[in-house]
This record gives sequence, C-alpha cells and structure tokens, in this order.
Amino acid sequence: MLYGLMQDVPLMISALIDYAARYHGRREIVSRSVEGPIHRYTYAEAEARAKQLANALVRLGVKPGDRVGSLAWNTWRHFEMFYGVSGHGAVLHTVNPRLFAEQIVYIINHAEDRFVFLDLSFVALVEGIADRLATVKGFVIMTDEAHMPATTLKNARCYETLLKAERPDYAWPRFDERAASSLCYTSGTTGNPKGVLYSHRSTLLHAMAACQNSAMALSAMDSVMPIAPMYHGNAWSLPYLAAMTGCKLVLPGPKMDGASIEELINAEGVTFSVAVPTVFTMLLEHLERSGRKVPSLDRVAIGGSAVPASMIETFREAYGVTVVQIWGMTETSPLGTMATVTPEVAALSETERRAVLAKQGRVQFGLELKIIGQDGETVPRDGTTFGDMWVRSSWAASGYFKGEGGAKLDNDGFFPTGDVATLDEHGYMRITDRTKDVIKSGGEWISSIDLENAAVGHEDVKQAAVIGVHHPKWEERPLLIVVSKEGRSPSREALLDHLRPRVAKWWLPDDVVFVKELPLTATGKIQKSRLREMFADYRLPDV
Ligand code: ADP
Repeated sequence: MLYGLMQDVPLMISALIDYAARYHGRREIVSRSVEGPIHRYTYAEAEARAKQLANALVRLGVKPGDRVGSLAWNTWRHFEMFYGVSGHGAVLHTVNPRLFAEQIVYIINHAEDRFVFLDLSFVALVEGIADRLATVKGFVIMTDEAHMPATTLKNARCYETLLKAERPDYAWPRFDERAASSLCYTSGTTGNPKGVLYSHRSTLLHAMAACQNSAMALSAMDSVMPIAPMYHGNAWSLPYLAAMTGCKLVLPGPKMDGASIEELINAEGVTFSVAVPTVFTMLLEHLERSGRKVPSLDRVAIGGSAVPASMIETFREAYGVTVVQIWGMTETSPLGTMATVTPEVAALSETERRAVLAKQGRVQFGLELKIIGQDGETVPRDGTTFGDMWVRSSWAASGYFKGEGGAKLDNDGFFPTGDVATLDEHGYMRITDRTKDVIKSGGEWISSIDLENAAVGHEDVKQAAVIGVHHPKWEERPLLIVVSKEGRSPSREALLDHLRPRVAKWWLPDDVVFVKELPLTATGKIQKSRLREMFADYRLPDV
C-alpha cells in the first residue's frame, strides 16, 4: 500500500466551537431561558464557557468515556454541554424528559450516567426518581444562584456557580476520532429504549454532509432555529451545523407553542427552522388565527413523521416558505434523505415537480440506501414498488449501546431502518409506512401515510391517523381517526367522498371516527401503537 502524505487530523467536535469562536466569534446565540427572559451571547462567549464546563468536569472527576446525562430544553447552557462534555472526551447523554419516569430511570441506569444536568423544569421529576439512579454521583441544576430551588436532590450543584469557579482556558484534547461523543436513546415503541452511540468522526462527517446545498443549505447568512429538541437526534445536528457554518442560532427553550415560536422567528430574523410536523401544525394554526406573518422565514425542514402535502402548500402559498422534507432516524444521526431539487426535477411540469418534492427525498453523498422487496430483490426504481429500506453510512449506527437488540447489520453492512419505502427514477425515496404500521388487507399492503396525507388535505381536518383493525375476511382494514379543526365538524361521508378520487378504491377506509386529540409519543409523533390498543375491539360497520 502506498499511503498518501496528507496530515491525519482527527475529526473532533471541539474543533467546531473553536472554529466558530475564532471566525464567527461575534455571531449570536439567542435563547429563551427556562427562567423566562431572552438570553443572548456570542460563539466566543459560548466557547469560553464550554471550556469552563470542561474544567468543572475535570474537577468533578468525570473521565473520558464517562457518560454525563442532560434533561434539558434547547438553550445556551445545553449548547455548552454539547461542546464542554464531548470536547473533554466524555459522552453527552441527552435524555428525553417526555419519556415515562420508568423509562428515564431505565436509560440513565443503562447508560451509567455519572452526573445528571437538569433544567429547573425537571427538578420535581428527577427528585421523584433520584434514589433509583444507581450510578449518578451528583446533579447539576442548569440555572443561576438566584433561581436555585430548594431541592431534595443530594449533591445538587448550581450550573452557574460551577462555571464561575473555573477558568476559560482549557486545551481541547485531541484523541481518537472514533471515540464516543454522545448517546441518544430511541423512544422504543416496542421493548426498552435502545442507545445510539455517536462518535466524533460520525458527528463531523454527518455535519459536513448535512449543511451542503443539497441538504440544509446553511451559511453564515442564516439565522437558524432548531425547534426539534437537542434530546431528539441532537436537534438534528443543528448545534454542530450552526458552529460549522457560523449561522446565528436561535433556541426556543421550553416554549414551543405557535405564538412563542412566531415571536422568536420575527424578533430574531429566523431564516431556517426544523421540527416534526406536529410543531409546525401549531405554528400554522397560530398564524392563521392571529393573521401574523413570518417574512424572514425562507425554508423549514420537516421530518420525523410524514409531512402532509397540505402543510407544504400552506407554507408556500400563505407564507412564502419552502418546505424541505427530511427523513431520518436517531440511528442515522439523523439525516437520511432530504427532498431538495435537481435540474432534472426542476424541468418537470409544476404538478409533477411538486409531487416529487413532496417525497422524503434524496440521499447525500456518504449514505447509501437499498430497498428490498418481498421477493428478496432490490426493488425497481419505479416509484411504486415498495420494500424494506436499509442504510449504510459512516454516520449510521452499527448496533445499539451494550449490544441491545443483537447484531443489526446484514452481510453487506446495511442497517435495517424498519421503514417501508419506494425509490423513483429521479432518486427520490418515499416512505409508505413503518413496517409495523403497514395495513395488510387481503395479502396486499395499504399505506397508512398516504391515507393520512390525503385526509389532512380536507379543509376541516386538523390531524388524521389511519390504523389497521381486524377484519374477518380481509385480515385488516383501514380505520380513519380524525381530529377536526376547531369549530368544524365534517361528516364521515364528506371525508370518504374527499378520499375517493385520491386513493385506490380498495384503500378507502371502512370507517371514520372522530376524537378530540391523538396520543403522541415522547418525540411528538402520533402514537399508532396506542391507537391500535384503543381501537383493538373496534367493529367495522359491515362486519
Ligand atoms: P422514534 O422511534 O423515537 O420516533 P426516531 O425519531 O429515530 O425515533 O424515528 C425515526 C423514524 O421516524 C423513521 O424510521 C421513520 O419511520 C420516521 N420518519 C422520520 N422522518 C420521516 C418522514 N419524513 N416521513 C415519514 N416517516 C418519517
């Protein structure tokens, strides 16, 4: 082997904040604090404080490889942890505070967190479980002296006091880029949550791919607001991407209602934002009700569950905002695909182009995708034949922390996504369902996502979910579950009439039920498993 003679500089997360502090030092990070007021400072200050945090970790005895948990919203202090903890060589374990207390206990014990940092919002929650957290040596409450609550937590320290005692000079260590940097558990709709353990290398390669023009297209000119939480797929990597590109970073803290989000967008000139569809449903509702606009907002990346075509249209027509759909999972860091345009697609008729761009999108260089049909063969690129989707990438998981769930990769090193998808001639992937949500009717598959998408297109429908319910002859038939918009009450017949021209005849739901709200998962997605339980004994009309 003749080796190249180029420098071998390890890809380190700390290099991102170092770069941002040096070359975008005055660019702002603006947060809505948990205490209430808006907090603003710069990348230069963020780096100094991340170094103070790293020094504090040394003093607390946190060693490289140790896990440090966080239960926190998107704020500047959580941002500092992304760099202070990983930069020091420890592993940031972002815990989803919306999980059940039992699950939180499970994952903190499974991760063996040494310290847990928490926002004021979660003091009561953690007090309730603290005596079951076997490995935790102490707690750090992410606030200042003035707001320190009285707490039963043993060894509770105040974040600001901790930092104040430290100097902002810390030489970021260089070590093996394959070292673990952060840990995030998937919500685990079945079984226990499983940990995805990222590395410095995977994080940087993912960030480089994700900020390209064909993906999130970020530059220093952007003002970006991750509404997607830092505890869910690292806020889709935006804490890293922002430092890499020097964008202004706007963090919404605990307030994710439509009015609070709109206020920040307008006050901080936000140009780009990311979240799951349910969050943008709230924003659009608020905009419609209040008549307010969001002129600075140029584009939003929406994913985590399928984006309804009607949402893409409303953003475009009413607010001039481009929606770019994103597909990904905790296991893919999270970027898998994005629905950005190519010249080939730009040249299509408007209707065709919109149909292609409403799909989950194309892969970036660095991630390979294969879709295997029921016959075990790669499906043709015809946009209609579907199969199980697998991925291979330097930023995709090879397995779960401590081997949970067993070996995952196939012989070629591909990871099973648990999603069913199609691929079209232009290279755009479309998710038809999660494997476990597919409705199997008479040996054929019905896509619940397509039905939901069509149902949400009805003007009176706020949210829709479709599940398969037992049918004696067909095995399963679709049931449409609808939340109507405020003050509207569409009829069953009106909804079925709306669907009739839009879906195959045999896909038409056998019944429609109306509910006040849909159960959501800890990551803001419609909880299909819960719906299936709720409607387990549902009798369809013709049965
Ligand atoms: P959780 O199971 O906790 O929700 P993830 O957020 O990692 O974990 O979920 C990833 C899954 O979310 C994907 O496998 C896919 O089923 C779904 N998903 C993500 N983005 C989309 C999208 N744009 N359209 C449809 N489904 C999506």
